[in-house]
Amino acid sequence: MKRYVIVGNGVAGTTAAEHIRHLDKDGKIDIFTDESTPFYTRIRLPEYIAGLVDEEKLILRKPQWYRTTGAELHLEECVQGIDLEEREVHTAKGTAYPYDRLLLTTGSHSFVPPIKGVEKPGVFSLRSLTDAKLIRDYALEAKRAILIGGGVLGLEAGNGLRRRGIEVTVVSSFQDYFPDRWTFPVRKSSRNRWKRWDSVSFWVPNPRKLWGAKGPKDSLWRVVRSCHVTWY
Ligand SMILES: Cc1cc2nc3c(=O)[nH]c(=O)nc-3n(C[C@H](O)[C@H](O)[C@H](O)COP(=O)(O)OP(=O)(O)OC[C@H]3O[C@@H](n4cnc5c(N)ncnc54)[C@H](O)[C@@H]3O)c2cc1C
Repeated sequence: MKRYVIVGNGVAGTTAAEHIRHLDKDGKIDIFTDESTPFYTRIRLPEYIAGLVDEEKLILRKPQWYRTTGAELHLEECVQGIDLEEREVHTAKGTAYPYDRLLLTTGSHSFVPPIKGVEKPGVFSLRSLTDAKLIRDYALEAKRAILIGGGVLGLEAGNGLRRRGIEVTVVSSFQDYFPDRWTFPVRKSSRNRWKRWDSVSFWVPNPRKLWGAKGPKDSLWRVVRSCHVTWY
């Protein structure tokens, strides 16, 4: 019987486990995550922040799935070392797990720029459900939010906060990348996904470079009319 160890229970690790089981009905599959939740969708975290979905809805694989797949999920068990000679992984709980095949699907982390003060309370990054919970709790008392980064994830998270009635300002240094993806004001197109936005301020260094000659003159542009943002 082969022993498979998968580090990471995101979409990559979980799908891999599914396929391994399809190919090998008897192998032992161990999936490790340093998080406390079975496989969940990060894509809906902005909706979670907005209070539109609860934790239950985010979880895509319930304990039953692990039982029927025959994959053992090790929650809150961070893999800290790999012994290539002994062919085993070592976890933060001090346990060693042997493997015949090892798969690392450890995903990524939010890049936090080295800005003074990022360690202070009230500064967050969004990657995990834990991050989203912290943001959601903090948002209960918050009135205004500054969003650093005008990429898709940032804007979606901002939209989540806006839906909670928080005044959102997006600060972005993008000059070229941004308009390729977003159009303001927005063209109607049924093939695109739409997001409804209003009352959001955008702070960009040179708005006319972004939005053309008809764009706002000031670097702080407030979207006062309802508008939509879309991506291709
Ligand atoms: C808010 C948000 C919105 C998104 N929206 C979209 C979208 O609309 N469309 C889209 O295509 N993508 C979207 N993404 C990106 C998408 O979620 C990622 O591409 C995807 O999660 C990557 O999956 P993964 O399995 O490679 O890694 P991850 O989902 O990052 O999973 C890796 C797992 O490994 C765990 N891990 C890491 N190191 C260790 C260790 N040493 N020991 C144990 N466990 C460990 C991590 O904690 C994590 O649980 C979004 C991401 C976020 C954060």
